[in-house]
This record gives sequence, structure tokens and C-alpha cells, in this order.
Amino acid sequence: MDGQTMAESLSEQELAERVVRAERRIDCMETALAAVTDEIDGVSLSSRCSKCEQSLLLIKDGMLHCPNCGNGHPL
Ligand SMILES: [Zn+2]
Repeated sequence: MDGQTMAESLSEQELAERVVRAERRIDCMETALAAVTDEIDGVSLSSRCSKCEQSLLLIKDGMLHCPNCGNGHPL
């Protein structure tokens, strides 16, 4: 490595394209994830985990649960 960070080695144009691609992927993932949770009885999605902020919380059997850090509590 020459000491440059990845962000510095990319042009603004390249970064903008990356952001657009990433947003499209997130939109696709959210649509698919919502459809998957709809298929599972009693499971739905909540807001982002306030503890780790790495995942949305799942709601199952009246409990909120973070699949990333295990944070959870009753609704
Ligand atoms: Zn978490």
C-alpha cells in the first residue's frame, strides 16, 4: 500500500457511482427482506438496534431481538 486510503484513490465520480449502486442494493435487500418476513408467521422487522446499530431488530413472539448482538427485550 502507498498509504492512500481507498476513498482518496477514488474520484468523486467513482464514489458517487458506488453510493448509487449501494443504495440500489439496499433497496433490493429491504424489499426481499420484507417479503421474507411476511412469509414467516409472527415475525416482523423493527427499527435499527440501538445497541450495536448493525442490524434491524426482529419482532418474534412479542419479543424484540437483535440477530447481531443478541440485544433483546419484550415489546
Ligand atoms: Zn444489536
